[in-house]
Amino acid sequence: MKPRSVGILGGGQLGVMLGESLLHLNCEVVVLDPDVESPALARLPHVVTARYDAADALAVLFERCDVVTFDSENIPFGPLLPHAAKLVPSVQALATSQDRAKEKAFLQSSGFPHVEYRVVPPGEELGAAARAFGFPCIAKSGLGGYDGKGQYRLERAEDLASLPAAAHGGWVLEELLTLHTELSCIVARDGRGAELCFPVFENLHTAHVLDLTVVPARVAPSLEEEARALAVQVARALDVVGLLTVEFFLADGRAGKRRLYVNELAPRTHNSGHVTRQACTLSQFDALARILCGVPLAPPRLHPGAWCMGNLLGDVWLAQQRTGGALDLAAWGRFPDVVDVFLYGKHQARPGRKMGHFVVRADTPERAMERARAFRAALSQPPQ
Ligand code: ADP
Ligand code: MG
Repeated sequence: MKPRSVGILGGGQLGVMLGESLLHLNCEVVVLDPDVESPALARLPHVVTARYDAADALAVLFERCDVVTFDSENIPFGPLLPHAAKLVPSVQALATSQDRAKEKAFLQSSGFPHVEYRVVPPGEELGAAARAFGFPCIAKSGLGGYDGKGQYRLERAEDLASLPAAAHGGWVLEELLTLHTELSCIVARDGRGAELCFPVFENLHTAHVLDLTVVPARVAPSLEEEARALAVQVARALDVVGLLTVEFFLADGRAGKRRLYVNELAPRTHNSGHVTRQACTLSQFDALARILCGVPLAPPRLHPGAWCMGNLLGDVWLAQQRTGGALDLAAWGRFPDVVDVFLYGKHQARPGRKMGHFVVRADTPERAMERARAFRAALSQPPQ
């Protein structure tokens, strides 16, 4: 029988790691990415360089592939409508999660806990809306945001002056929560009744970018159960086949009481899920690969110990006085508890750009985090 052919829209690190899992299952993998330097180009055999809205390139990809998925929700869904039958997860899941206004409306209409918000459609004046909504708040662009891009914290009316005049897809204002813990939970559904949930991850952000993911999360078992149950309910309500990552805040809001809020939805593999490659019996990438190939799922179990994933941002390359490409890993020799380093092969280092990650195993979450921070500090040294 001919191997199954799987398309991936997006050849970033998520597309590459998914592609590797698909190759393990002897699939043909075809990536489409507009970036002439996408990480997939050097690592996966079939990469097409084309825009995500190039109708002819999309037609060829969907004709060639049995099923097509995506590694980012910031892909325009309109050009995918003629090919909707082969897209996993669905166009609807993509369209809902890429637009903060639609995402919030979905959470609200389905009855899931969310932050207080106000949509400011394109063309409507942000200032008046923000004054009516109240400060402090966060203004987020409706479309195209990731890693904190397009987000502005507004403490008071004067801060409005520092914002761009308009945002892609308008604005969504959110109440500024006092965050206690950030969590994420990945749900996998195969469309044939199998549905499973990964352990809950605890996420620590710096400047709106994921810094560390720790598992097991340092929260009460009852809270972990609540997050898992909510994540599964959200995935069902959105009718996701594939993966859905649900980001949560455990926070004190305007209402006062500490509770779980659903922050964002990503119908794909997620940065916080990288830790599953070592910490779990099934990685997030293998889970999605199985779903795309029609191979049955098995529940992901956590291996013993505590695990911490640390992102390696472009800042580490810059600290080593490198512009991109290779990283000096000599310090790794002093950190035997770092069980994996994964470098994405991006050519250009920029502050805040995700260029790689690593995973630490230790006896406790605190120790794993301490070792992760120490490892990254040891890497971030200028050449001797
Ligand atoms: P993205 O991940 O797409 O950049 P998020 O909405 O997840 O956007 O925001 C990124 C980070 O910014 C969050 O993980 C959190 O640390 C912080 N943040 C976002 N919204 C709020 C909020 N309403 N209150 C407090 N902190 C927030
Ligand atoms: Mg987020």
